[in-house]
Amino acid sequence: MASAATPGSLSFIPTSSRARSHRLASSGLRLPLRRLGFSSVAVDPLLSVHVAAKIRSFNGKGVKGVVSMAKKSVGDLTSADLKGKRVFVRADLNVPLDENQNITDDTRIRAAVPTIKHLIQNGAKVILSSHLGRPKGVTPKFSLNPLVPRLSELLGIQVVKADDCIGPEVEKQVGSLPDGGVLLLENVRFYKEEEKNDPEFAKKLASLADLYVNDAFGTAHRAHASTEGVTKFLKPSVAGFLLQKELDYLVGAVSTPKRPFAAIVGGSKVSSKIGVIESLLEKCDILLLGGGMIFTFYKAQGLSVGSSLVEEDKLSLATSLLEKAKAKGVSLLLPTDVVIADKFAPDANSKVVAASEIPDGWMGLDIGPDSVKSFNEALETTKTVIWNGPMGVFEFDKFAVGTEAVAKKLAELSGKGVTTIIGGGDSVAAVEKVGVAEVMSHISTGGGASLELLEGKELPGVLALNEATPVPV
Ligand code: AMP
Repeated sequence: MASAATPGSLSFIPTSSRARSHRLASSGLRLPLRRLGFSSVAVDPLLSVHVAAKIRSFNGKGVKGVVSMAKKSVGDLTSADLKGKRVFVRADLNVPLDENQNITDDTRIRAAVPTIKHLIQNGAKVILSSHLGRPKGVTPKFSLNPLVPRLSELLGIQVVKADDCIGPEVEKQVGSLPDGGVLLLENVRFYKEEEKNDPEFAKKLASLADLYVNDAFGTAHRAHASTEGVTKFLKPSVAGFLLQKELDYLVGAVSTPKRPFAAIVGGSKVSSKIGVIESLLEKCDILLLGGGMIFTFYKAQGLSVGSSLVEEDKLSLATSLLEKAKAKGVSLLLPTDVVIADKFAPDANSKVVAASEIPDGWMGLDIGPDSVKSFNEALETTKTVIWNGPMGVFEFDKFAVGTEAVAKKLAELSGKGVTTIIGGGDSVAAVEKVGVAEVMSHISTGGGASLELLEGKELPGVLALNEATPVPV
């Protein structure tokens, strides 16, 4: 039912990408990120695969397909490097707490465990730092105290808690920390100097330790004292396992993907995803667009969009992105049908119409069944898929079908060995809602940071780390 004006009939795999896949295969180049099926070491099964990969590649057993990133990793540090050393670990332990200070989702704590375990098992003294919430000065409700029991449980040792993150009392606690012990510092954002990346504050934090590990991917796009400033005083400064895994997938798998490589980009506005779309257009073979942004593309092609979300000032941008896709031989697919609603509400009346037949007074809030079918057919052909942004207003059940269909399809493809990367934000919420998060190759833990990486930007918290020495793969 695609009208002549809708671009649903573009071929899925451009000749250029077929040629590229062929070239790669015949050149004998190894493709990255094979699943290793290894599940001990870490608490999180997905992360454990990664930890195993890093440790095995470090041990020089020649595990094929492990991405060797440019930054030195904590997996590169052995007990000879770590025994008795004070290691400043910046993690992202910014977990949600209820009104009684109970942790309602411990994902971030679990994600930090593999790095800390590696350090304590190799005899290091871990000085653990994080922010929590958005405190203005010392704010008791944003204390890290409620994290101690869960952290201790997951690590299997009693974590000691400091009431500050710098100063003589903390120094004393660091001094009495045994090898293999963990001292959790108080919320680093109780000091405004943290977000200002104040060098004096960074120096005080750094003075507690001998070396530095950054595992806080969610804040790696910010140059703060504990994510960037401290690296000027601590050598080596290395990436934790979580940070490394994010880089392996969001940079490694995206820049050298197994092809065909599809990107699915959704969300509300084209303006907030321009950088991501432009960057992915350079790398992908197939680009599927959904969410509120599609109406700007439709309008740019002369279609009526009723009262759907449109960014009038981005019409020419939409046209130029379509032209760019064509010039690059990327199969850009817009949904051929949409679910429209008579108001923006969970109980709105709705119906499915062709993308070219949206009546006045109605707004598109999801992609339709034909689109799901053609998106699924396109995805069937792929070896790597990255997804950022929902296909519709998935917060309303009635308009969550398209988004959930993508989540289910990616889960199915993961089972067939396709590398599936969920690039942060609402797409993560969607795969969690559908209950398929566990099977994806990678679920990014950082919304803002993952977007910036996908836009091709370099993150200050990553840039500041030491370069890796080559790892055998
Ligand atoms: P973003 O933060 O840009 O990834 O956008 C996510 C938001 O886009 C979600 O809150 C969705 O409800 C919203 N969204 C998705 N599709 C539409 C649509 N067709 N119209 C309005 N908002 C949408």
